[in-house]
Amino acid sequence: MTPEPEVDLSKTYDAVIVGSGAAGGMAAHVLTSKGMKVLMLEAGKKLNIEQELRSMEWPYDNASRGFLPPDSHSLSFNEYTIRRPPYGPGFEKSKHLLSYVGSSDYTKNIVVDERENPYTGTNYAWVRARCLGGKTNIWGRLALRLSDYDFKAKDRDGFGENWPIGYRDIAPYYDKVDLYLGITGVQENLDYLPDSIFQRPTKLNCAEVTLKQGIQKMGRVLTQYRAGVTSDGLKHNKYRSRCYGRGACERKGGCDIHAAFDSPTGLIYPALDTGNLTLRPNSTVREVTVDPNTGKASGVHFIDSQTMNDYHVKAKVVIVAASTLESARLLLLSKSRRHPNGLANSSGHLGHNFCEHVMGPGIAGRAKDRVGKAPTLDDGRPGGFYLTRFRNLKDKHPKFIRGYGFEGGSGSAMFPRGTDVHGFGASFKEEVRKNQGAFIGMGAFGEVLSRYENYVDLDPAVKDKWGVPALRFHYKFGDNEHRMAEDMKETAKEMFDAAGFEIMHVSDRVLTEGWSIHELGTARMGSDPKTSVLNQFEQSHDVKNLFVVDGSAFVNASCQNPTWTIMALCWRSCDYLADEMKKGNL
Ligand SMILES: Cc1cc2nc3c(=O)[nH]c(=O)nc-3n(C[C@H](O)[C@H](O)[C@H](O)COP(=O)(O)OP(=O)(O)OC[C@H]3O[C@@H](n4cnc5c(N)ncnc54)[C@H](O)[C@@H]3O)c2cc1C
Ligand code: SF4
Repeated sequence: MTPEPEVDLSKTYDAVIVGSGAAGGMAAHVLTSKGMKVLMLEAGKKLNIEQELRSMEWPYDNASRGFLPPDSHSLSFNEYTIRRPPYGPGFEKSKHLLSYVGSSDYTKNIVVDERENPYTGTNYAWVRARCLGGKTNIWGRLALRLSDYDFKAKDRDGFGENWPIGYRDIAPYYDKVDLYLGITGVQENLDYLPDSIFQRPTKLNCAEVTLKQGIQKMGRVLTQYRAGVTSDGLKHNKYRSRCYGRGACERKGGCDIHAAFDSPTGLIYPALDTGNLTLRPNSTVREVTVDPNTGKASGVHFIDSQTMNDYHVKAKVVIVAASTLESARLLLLSKSRRHPNGLANSSGHLGHNFCEHVMGPGIAGRAKDRVGKAPTLDDGRPGGFYLTRFRNLKDKHPKFIRGYGFEGGSGSAMFPRGTDVHGFGASFKEEVRKNQGAFIGMGAFGEVLSRYENYVDLDPAVKDKWGVPALRFHYKFGDNEHRMAEDMKETAKEMFDAAGFEIMHVSDRVLTEGWSIHELGTARMGSDPKTSVLNQFEQSHDVKNLFVVDGSAFVNASCQNPTWTIMALCWRSCDYLADEMKKGNL
């Protein structure tokens, strides 16, 4: 165990950032570029990430063929569903117990050990990555914008709350994120899914084009996967390479040349180069402290994750970016005489309005005209396609509100998948070869409504390895989500029929809550301090030098993946923070 270099604890930093994922990294980038002296505390290790990801390793060069070593186990759908808690008794033989994402040898040290990081309550597949960069080391890269269909969703269907901002407010910040980090895609001019400033796009393959054309007559849109990947390269960033299209994206592991965005190479290393950032990994923040006289945040208490030593560090501003659920946990833990229900919680909304995306329904099929054709290079790209939302845009669906989109892909892959061919020997191999390029599949992601009664709080008894109280879930999908999931299955079939595909498998199983890894909303923003935790700049209504800049601030989940929006909002909030600081308002 090498203890982390001591930070100068006698110093008062301009800002301390808790967490180093998409949100924490962006806060570090924006604030250090404005000359602020910033300390970043990250609970996990700084891994030798290239050594972990080994994107070009062949399965035969890996002792467990790329899967987990025998002493480790990653949780299955059934284990999440029937075990309470999912990491409970029955796993004695497994030294390491990991979430469902930890099923490969390349992610095993990135995701947390479930036993060391327990949680309780209703079933939830909680995926956490405790290391420098957090979940951005292994994210799926789909980078979408939200629109006023999302920001002003209440105006359309009366449910929930509108955001205190509209698309016009955030659009310039989406542009900044696009240009600074790089994104590939194709312009579609859709008002419900605004375009980014795209770099060179990937190509759709034959079956994907067939599906695109098949659904065009239904007024539906399929576009290239909008990937948070630089396809042209970024001249201003020496830590990242452009995408070589190596086909490693789908290997559940991340990109070891950093063409795909990750927070360390995209944001944190450049911020360190300014000389204004101090980084301390292995630092688990357990409380945001408050000056009893002013009521303002004064700094944080943190535990060295390896030595267990406890420290306090002072800062003029505290920026919480520990990811939606961990940020809620930290604020709930930060109780004081002035804030008896947790910090920034005078509204009672902290931990509530928790929302995400419902997943599960999907389809697999075969483009018959591709059977027996010569293999093509289809997986040398960072994603397949995105089939955009089509429900509740112009028309109102009679059974549910809001919408969903599909992520999918087709074609030949290094390792044939989904061919549904059974058998053995030479004839089996021949059948697999004949069919593999014809396979096409897609799965839906739908908006889970933001409801007050879906919430997290602290478990009164269970603690993690560092003695910090665990989070307890009170969270279930509702009728709207289940009715939407029914529709996902029907429309998937209808669209594959329209494209003339042979349908091989339709899934209507709704995956466990949490499966999307898009948790949002636990400290929502709003104009009214009685019903929201943060204002439009992700600044606490109660404590003006406290900002929460991750997915916690979302008012609803929309059906688009959240990371690009998290970063655009964070950039906007940090611009505001720096201005307010200059004016002496914090
Ligand atoms: C397999 C996978 C696929 C995904 N696919 C997509 C996708 O296609 N598109 C998309 O938009 N999103 C996707 N996501 C989600 C995306 O990764 C997250 O939205 C994003 O990483 C959120 O950023 P964050 O900074 O809020 O949290 P994180 O990236 O999780 O970072 C939070 C950091 O805070 C640290 N931390 C937590 N608690 C503390 C504490 N008490 N003290 C100090 N540090 C702490 C953690 O260790 C972590 O490093 C995916 C995620 C996964 C795992
Ligand atoms: S396809 Fe591109 S983004 Fe994906 S792992 Fe390879 S180089 Fe990285």
